[in-house]
Amino acid sequence: MTFINARGTYTPLGVSRSSRAVAEAVALALEDFALIDALHKAVAAEIADWAGAEAAAITHCTAASVTLAVAASMTGADQTRIQQLPDTTGLRHVVLVPAGHDVNYGHPLLTDIRLAGASPRLYGLAGANSIDGVDDALAGEDVACLLLVSSRLVSGPPTEVGEITACVLAAHARGTPVIIDGAAQDWRVSELLATGADAVLVSAQKYLGAPTAGLVMGKKSFVEAVRAQERGIGRAMKTTKEALAGVRAAVNARRGMSRPAWMAEQERKVSRCLQAIERLALPGLRVTAVADPTGLPLSRVHIEVDAQQAGQDAAQLAKALREGHPSVWTLDQHAARGVLQLELVALRDDQIDALADALARAATP
Ligand SMILES: *Cc1c(COP(=O)(O)O)cnc(C)c1O
Repeated sequence: MTFINARGTYTPLGVSRSSRAVAEAVALALEDFALIDALHKAVAAEIADWAGAEAAAITHCTAASVTLAVAASMTGADQTRIQQLPDTTGLRHVVLVPAGHDVNYGHPLLTDIRLAGASPRLYGLAGANSIDGVDDALAGEDVACLLLVSSRLVSGPPTEVGEITACVLAAHARGTPVIIDGAAQDWRVSELLATGADAVLVSAQKYLGAPTAGLVMGKKSFVEAVRAQERGIGRAMKTTKEALAGVRAAVNARRGMSRPAWMAEQERKVSRCLQAIERLALPGLRVTAVADPTGLPLSRVHIEVDAQQAGQDAAQLAKALREGHPSVWTLDQHAARGVLQLELVALRDDQIDALADALARAATP
């Protein structure tokens, strides 16, 4: 079944489309054996070089990376401790999370923490920034690490780089490592690493367009402790030769891309979409461009639905779009506030035009 994905990099929608080069690299890897450790190290070195990190490791996905980074913060590279998990007897086992970062991206982030045997502890208020209350929280004797989320926060303010840096300084003053879940933030890896965090976690299958994999980038000793979990709980969260080959091809392709050119291309598509929708003059719909709320270098198309004038509310319009031909999936988590948004990164021009036509049909029931 084909559909137009104007929602973005979402797991239930198949996340992203890989290039032919990535698909071919995966196919070739599947046809042969591989010395996994050497392949892992070579690909990790390329990722670290691309990201400007001291070191990198690859896991099954970012959910796995969260669990394994939490595990690393409890065990370090100590094999006895690694094999003891998820039993945390005698280990610092509390993972601090700002209350506003308690996200659910299909399952609760806190589940990733519990899977390592650790105990999540929320601090601060949901609407507060991540600095408020961090000092008191860090004073706990049983704290293993601080986990911040910079991707997909839906409540509270987006996490600013300066705010993360302040948290990292406070944590490091007490010798506590900091992990950043930046799953969809491959375009922001260097900014996130510059905060001094011990590990930045990114999904290879989101904007990088690789097969499913988790990229862990950061301080050498911390990253080595993440990789070392493969002999413990990480066995169930390991990467594969085909994912490693696909990640290598995707990261190589990204190296050849210019960030300003990519940003300009995204802006061009947003303008094309805005013009196409404005030309239709659909009653009750007001379209504008808004900055990505998670700090990615791109805009979204923002549609405000006046239910009276449009004859249907935003949720009904989103449903009509999904059930149309072609089916169009939008960002509808703010539908109750009368807002739908479109992310165009994965769309070609012909799909943007088809999307505008689909909107015209759905808006005039
Ligand atoms: C997508 C996402 C994840 C999970 O990434 P996977 O690679 O699918 O496991 C974790 N955290 C956030 C914030 C996400 O957006």
